[in-house]
Amino acid sequence: MLYQPKIDLATETLVGCEALVRWQDSTKGVIPPDKFIPMAEETGCIISIGLWVIQTVSAQIVDWRKRNINIPQVAINLSGSKLASSASLKSIFDILEKNLFPPSMIEFELTESVIMGYHSSGAFQSLLKLNESGYNISIDDFGTGYSSLSYLKHLPIDTLKIDRSFIIDVIEREDGRAIVKAIIALANCLELKTIAEGVETQLQLDFLKACGCDQVQGYYFAKPLSAKDIAAFSEQQSNNPLLMLS
Ligand code: C2E
Ligand code: MG
Ligand code: MG
Repeated sequence: MLYQPKIDLATETLVGCEALVRWQDSTKGVIPPDKFIPMAEETGCIISIGLWVIQTVSAQIVDWRKRNINIPQVAINLSGSKLASSASLKSIFDILEKNLFPPSMIEFELTESVIMGYHSSGAFQSLLKLNESGYNISIDDFGTGYSSLSYLKHLPIDTLKIDRSFIIDVIEREDGRAIVKAIIALANCLELKTIAEGVETQLQLDFLKACGCDQVQGYYFAKPLSAKDIAAFSEQQSNNPLLMLS
């Protein structure tokens, strides 16, 4: 499991991280999630992978807290409708409720297409329950799916995560800049936080700052790090907020 820092734009300090799963194969080495998550969704393995991720992240948070490592929030990617079934959400609660840390330390990232599909299913109530219990919910890869704007207003969500595809050429392309500005304006109107993913350059950072984006994540500050390295990042950052590891 790797953890990529999320940085607050106003203070340039660590506000949390995203847990990103890796598959270590004895012959092929490290397999990235894009290669095995779609297959896991098809076969149904995604439910046990998802629960394993939540279990691992929870144990990691408990360990960091024991050692006074300040990582305020960890985001977990929740995939597809299978994991979002009511039975699976009950298993999520069963794992999380055993832990003695505040629910606000966990954020669930769901993609736009998954979250929009909840309208017609009972999973919407479960999502509401997660949110009411204090867990944060964000829409991942925002802008790439088909969001119903009126539905967005009623969703129990806290954050819009602007997809990397809009950030990649935001400096070169005027239409890209217009989209990013529009997403941030929309989020402001709906009182949602914004985070931009895939930030790699100072120019992108400056643009996002000028637009009033709240947080950023990307190689500019740090690549996904091991649990040990993000603990070191957190400790060094509290001494020097402008430190970058990559
Ligand atoms: P995502 O949730 O949108 O995660 C962001 C991806 O962008 C990560 O790739 C991250 O390493 C990459 N990234 C971050 N900053 C930069 C940057 O500045 N430049 C570039 N080029 N890339 C950047 P990763 O780790 O390969 O994950 C890919 C996708 O796999 C994730 O997209 C997510 O949808 C899925 N995934 C990862 N971990 C999990 C998990 O535990 N459960 C589930 N269900 N899906 C996961
Ligand atoms: Mg994500
Ligand atoms: Mg994303």
